[in-house]
Amino acid sequence: MRENAPVPHFIRTIIEQDLASGKHRTVVTRFPPEPNGYLHIGHAKSICLNFGLAEDYGGRCNLRFDDTNPEKESMEYANAIMEDVRWLGYQWDGPVRWASDYFPQLYEYAEELIRKGLAYVDDLTPDEMREYRGTLTEPGRDSPWRNRSVEENLDLFRRMRAGEFPDGSKTLRAKIDMKSPNINLRDPVLYRIKRVPHLRTGTQWVIYPMYDYTHCISDALEGITHSLCTLEFEDHRPLYDWVLDHITIGCHPQQIEFARLEMRHTVTSKRKLNLLVSEGHVSGWDDPRLPTLQGMRRRGYTPEGIREFARRIGVSKAANIVDLEVLEGCIREDLEARAPRVMAVLKPLKVVLTNYTDGVTLSREAPLHPQRPELGSRLVPLGREIWIERDDFAETPPPGWQRLTPGGEVRLRYSYVIRCNEVVRDARGEVVELRCSIDHDTLGQNPVGRKVKGVIHWVACAHALPAEVRLYDRLFTDPDPDGHKDRDFREFLNPHSLQVVQGWVEPLVRDAAPETRYQFERLGYFCTDRYDHRPGERIVFNRTVTLKETWAKPQG
Ligand code: ATP
Ligand code: MG
Repeated sequence: MRENAPVPHFIRTIIEQDLASGKHRTVVTRFPPEPNGYLHIGHAKSICLNFGLAEDYGGRCNLRFDDTNPEKESMEYANAIMEDVRWLGYQWDGPVRWASDYFPQLYEYAEELIRKGLAYVDDLTPDEMREYRGTLTEPGRDSPWRNRSVEENLDLFRRMRAGEFPDGSKTLRAKIDMKSPNINLRDPVLYRIKRVPHLRTGTQWVIYPMYDYTHCISDALEGITHSLCTLEFEDHRPLYDWVLDHITIGCHPQQIEFARLEMRHTVTSKRKLNLLVSEGHVSGWDDPRLPTLQGMRRRGYTPEGIREFARRIGVSKAANIVDLEVLEGCIREDLEARAPRVMAVLKPLKVVLTNYTDGVTLSREAPLHPQRPELGSRLVPLGREIWIERDDFAETPPPGWQRLTPGGEVRLRYSYVIRCNEVVRDARGEVVELRCSIDHDTLGQNPVGRKVKGVIHWVACAHALPAEVRLYDRLFTDPDPDGHKDRDFREFLNPHSLQVVQGWVEPLVRDAAPETRYQFERLGYFCTDRYDHRPGERIVFNRTVTLKETWAKPQG
């Protein structure tokens, strides 16, 4: 897909002003995931924004793991995140950064705050702290430990670090304002005691810095110019600025908030995705029904299509709730332009071509892409028996039917016009076979004296390869599964979100590598499964997207 021109938005305006005014000479952004789950389509928006801005303005973008909650984080997640960012087509500047790399500096800055009388060690229990914090309508109260001397605070903080106190018995808090209307400024906790081994620092630390304290300092240490985050951090910005204003660090990135992406008919909360995986509603984090990057990749979505989606949805402060169709449309357009075409039959009905004659009945060469001759062509072999799609035959056709019907004619794609002469049934009356005759004068030309409008796809029984085809649909039946007060989102799981069929495909796909994409003519775009497909041995396709929007359309 050709990369389209960037869509202007308010963050671009800020950056352009900063470059024009000389406030910054370059742009430095970062993507800061916590390695506690897999990335999803919402993260893709943030990745495309941060890496995209760095690319567009000739700047840099860091990948920084925000690893301050050791009990939930793992290298498995971190590795998958790195893979996903690269798969989307981005490369971070220099080495991967870790907030934990800055633990020593973070500790030093905490001592600086203590020495300045701006942080204190508190002995309140978590319950007491909650009670002292007040509410949105009531101011908080000062902790009885708020006025400890600098010496006492330094001594206690050092002993916290040395492991002298049990988990949760003390915290280090910023001394800001317990009466602030912004609860984030009511003496927020900066450090807590937690004896949990960390994925990178092991048991070296028993105190861990809080996210808000860590994030702004990490940004500043990396010389980030524009720190982009989602709107729920708007109320945290005064704390971001407070910390950087009160330590000696010499860099003060600008935090800018934008609306998070939410999509209908799916969920993007890590916690909810986790439940779907751990309770077995889906096969894993890479289940093609999930909006995770691993899932979308496995389904056959392209990085180019996802990047185009991120471009189209734009960036603003207004709610960003998007229909899945918009994403599917981007994927479809990308695949339309590049996926080779083949024929496959997913619900097979046998057709016997009664006048098939060796040496007289011919096979044809067909292009792999109608607009891209450079992709080449393949022979579409015909035979005496072929499979057609069961849905392409109707005994009592509805008005306007252009496909096969008893006594009717249809063209086989890239082949002859055939006529249905006989319908064969089994003991229960089910149609099991059609007997048809070929009009041998119609290869590559129209029949004389009559019009045959319908064209159907098919594969020759003797040449087609059996394939397992996984047909995916929406994971949820409700557009907002998460938005019901009295009902759990899992109640809206679509019981028909996965249907597995045994179909037949053209022999061409025999040696296709995993993650090879095709258009199955008239059916949609399909991708060989990244894990279960084994070239030459077992063919497994995932349906990436249908050819047209099929969801929620009126019947008929
Ligand atoms: P958590 O609730 O665990 O914090 P998170 O989705 O915020 O989940 P992070 O790993 O902290 O996960 O996210 C990394 C970055 O991606 C953050 O800058 C965050 O703002 C951004 N991000 C996360 N979800 C979305 C979303 N839905 N739309 C846009 N950006 C998002
Ligand atoms: Mg987060």
